[in-house]
Amino acid sequence: MDPNKTVKQFHEMELDDRILKAISKLGWTYPTLIQEAAIPLLLEGKDVVVKARTGSGKTAAFALPVIQKILNSKLNAAEQAISALILSPSKELCQQTRAAMELMASKCGKVIRIVDVSSSDVVAQKHALSERPDIVITTPAKILTHLQSGAIDLKKLETLVVDEADLVFSFGFEKDFKKLVDFLPPIYQAVLVSATFTDDIKDMKNLILHNPAILKLEEPELVPESQLSHQRILAEENDKPAILCALLKLRLIRGKNVIFVNSVDRCYKLKLFLEQFSIKSCILNSELPTKIRIHTINQFNQGNYDFIIASDENMLENPGRVKSDTEAGASRGIDFQCVSNVINFDFPLDVNSYIHRAGRTARGTNKGCVLSFVSMKDKEVNDAVEDRLKSGYTSEDAIIKNYQFKLEEVEPFRYRAKDAWRAITRIAVHEARLREIKTEIFNNEKLKSFFADNNRELQVLRHDKPLKVVKIQPHLSHVPEYIVPKALKRLASSTNQRSSKQFKSFSAAKSTYESQQDNPLLCSDIDYAKKRGPRRK
Ligand code: AMP
Repeated sequence: MDPNKTVKQFHEMELDDRILKAISKLGWTYPTLIQEAAIPLLLEGKDVVVKARTGSGKTAAFALPVIQKILNSKLNAAEQAISALILSPSKELCQQTRAAMELMASKCGKVIRIVDVSSSDVVAQKHALSERPDIVITTPAKILTHLQSGAIDLKKLETLVVDEADLVFSFGFEKDFKKLVDFLPPIYQAVLVSATFTDDIKDMKNLILHNPAILKLEEPELVPESQLSHQRILAEENDKPAILCALLKLRLIRGKNVIFVNSVDRCYKLKLFLEQFSIKSCILNSELPTKIRIHTINQFNQGNYDFIIASDENMLENPGRVKSDTEAGASRGIDFQCVSNVINFDFPLDVNSYIHRAGRTARGTNKGCVLSFVSMKDKEVNDAVEDRLKSGYTSEDAIIKNYQFKLEEVEPFRYRAKDAWRAITRIAVHEARLREIKTEIFNNEKLKSFFADNNRELQVLRHDKPLKVVKIQPHLSHVPEYIVPKALKRLASSTNQRSSKQFKSFSAAKSTYESQQDNPLLCSDIDYAKKRGPRRK
């Protein structure tokens, strides 16, 4: 946020001092665009529909007014009751929202009670609900169960928030949601938050909102190009493993990465492939137990893993067929922190998926890159993505720059990768899926007793252990000097002698992409030697 811009600041928003203290502790200097627009409207009591991109600070846009309203009503000694209900499409999102809101209310002592009742532990949920918390966060299916069993009532509800509303409405929660409306009091304030506006939302918003203010902010769906670069490698299916392998083994990709593929099987195939080169990765897909997914993301956020392989299979291939209590896309809306690169190993099947995947990087003020492998069959979607990005950035120039990977430079990787990729048969993938799920369910049981407060013990439950269904060939993990492209050799050796900073990473060296001449794999030896200057002894 530009400090010279005249933005309304948090302390000008009639927020309680305790909230302001928490905001300051979080290190937020200015409200984001969506917060600046939404918070005053919500404090006025208006119903609001918010269209905001992922990572725009939308949680605080609704959460801060919710907390403020509860503090106000407590001043008037209002009876303890559920004041706010926050509905999210998945358990992961519920947990994330609760964690975020706890931080925002951290300076309010025990005045604000927040519970997340999206888990399947009904006894614990009933116990939590019996204490009449101020804020309940859950999925539509779960809240309906509790309402129908009489465990809670929403007679005193003041605010209803539907987060990621497009998913809530379109992936199987629609029926639950319609039933839920019958339990709501006649008057309440409603907020609907969504990254995209689908027809479902337009239809359904009439159910819960009264004369809402619609906030569609004039901002691109993605952060500016200066913060997020888009790169593409033109590669056919056969070339993709070799290129990825070369990029990783030559350490041209660094930092934390989310690699997207288009199916659960591909998650395992890629993990098994990388395993053969001693590259550890963990898997995130909607088949794994929720706790494991949350734990994997938490550990990724803590810096324990560099690679997560995620599939959006449910969202991409079976939209609308998700069971009511099934999570709607494992990665959607989940806040991966400090992701340097999003790698589309499989190009997304539609533009929205590209936007959502890209939203996993360049969050807050961090920089990020999206690197996509694009084959001939992906051309149409790739063009559509380009058009959407251009219109978002109002640019005439191509947004997705070609990362002209010289395959011949990494030919030796191709042979190694080809064999390794071929070794992963369908049977191996199937076996790996079974084995992974078994292990993770076992971990899940362990986690049950650990999750609450034994954070250190949780470190021993790693999710990036080798699946070992394909014979590991130890020589593959080593990159012999003769297969390193000439252009990189000098760099690599000078890196060993001097600062590792000089071995530019994919993410750190944004200039690498702006000026493709800086990419060692793109330049001739001579060009590169000139650029680096004489080699130091
Ligand atoms: P969200 O869109 O709610 O998922 O938020 C994305 C990220 O932005 C989260 O990690 C928040 O902690 C962070 N965030 C939210 N509001 C602000 C703010 N005003 N300044 C800086 N970071 C923020």
